[in-house]
Amino acid sequence: MLIQCTRCGKEIEKQQGYEHQGKTFCEDCYMDLLSPPKACDPWAVHSAQTFLKGKDKFSTLTPQQSKIVNYIKERGEATAEEMIKNLNLTEEELRREFASLRHMEILRGTKKGDKILYILF
Ligand SMILES: [Zn+2]
Repeated sequence: MLIQCTRCGKEIEKQQGYEHQGKTFCEDCYMDLLSPPKACDPWAVHSAQTFLKGKDKFSTLTPQQSKIVNYIKERGEATAEEMIKNLNLTEEELRREFASLRHMEILRGTKKGDKILYILF
């Protein structure tokens, strides 16, 4: 059965849809909602641009971003709660870093049951 993403209108399989505040979204829109890209975040923009210039994307990471990436590398996957606790981050910091890392195509989110797991891109 096909449903439509509330945000971009893309048709997706119902089981691939993501529920958020009573609406259904495709994966891309859902991830955007969880980690809205901030045009005013100079680091995210800088990192994304550096990556576009073809530099090694891992060399552009901030220490905090490296910490997140290494944590996920070691485990293969991690939940936001887990990283907030183990890496000593606030939820806002994690979301901001994840938004940058997702722009750089280093990390992505995936749904497992009713949990969102962060994995390498
Ligand atoms: Zn969508």
